[in-house]
Amino acid sequence: MHKPLKALITGGAKGIGLAISQALQQKGFQVTALGRDEQSLAIAKAAGFIEDYLVLDLAIGQNWDELANKLTFDFSVLVNNAGIYVWQPAENTTSNDVQALFALNFFAAEKLSSLCLGHMKQQRWGRILNIASVSGTTGEANAGVYAASKGALIAYSRSLALELASLDITVNCISPGWVKTELFTRTELSEEEILSTVPAHRWVSASELGALAAFLCGDEAQSITGQNICVCAGLSLG
Ligand code: NAD
Repeated sequence: MHKPLKALITGGAKGIGLAISQALQQKGFQVTALGRDEQSLAIAKAAGFIEDYLVLDLAIGQNWDELANKLTFDFSVLVNNAGIYVWQPAENTTSNDVQALFALNFFAAEKLSSLCLGHMKQQRWGRILNIASVSGTTGEANAGVYAASKGALIAYSRSLALELASLDITVNCISPGWVKTELFTRTELSEEEILSTVPAHRWVSASELGALAAFLCGDEAQSITGQNICVCAGLSLG
């Protein structure tokens, strides 16, 4: 690994993404964040957790050309972290929900991966890290389309890992359990109800995820590829 390497992260100024930005920055990466919320991006930059940022709605398809014009895709690390969660019974899930979930949770990750691959292949080194979810393998009642979008991300990551293994480009997923960010407030479950489903009866901390992300993005994780690592306080065990 030749430092400083450039890292691109989506949703890198809030929640889990902010913890990953911090951990990558501490490891010596120059972090660029893409996100919707300008205020949190500006705060993260002022705090030194990210080097630069671009305000962008990643769920809107026509922004890809605009992005390719504004950003040089010479990143060694890509972290697809931004995601949305919709919690409601299957019969109430609308086509708009389905589109929005897949647009951000899967299509944006796929598109950014393809935009980053040219440089990674050229330098024969790269890390793609996708933030999936325990739901992507276990399923989740009242969040079936969310689970499906994360399942797609996990399957895509395994396939990409196979395709890129000989070039020293690794592709992995981290699947968190429950983390106390803005996202969890979209369920109608109380905190007690959530924790009663978690074997260790506690929230996963964003900093645990940041530390693992930084490890997976370093040289020391060169042989870890195609994996989906659950960080979930036992939630994935059933
Ligand atoms: P969060 O809501 O705190 O943060 C989401 C981030 O994504 C924010 O920075 C937001 O600005 C960005 N974002 C949302 N929509 C966007 C869009 N259209 N364009 C650009 N950016 C957009 O959530 P979080 O908990 O930090 O979630 C991060 C990732 O972790 C997500 O992929 C989520 O599915 C996953 N995850 C979270 C939990 C949890 O319990 N919090 C559990 C499993 C997986």
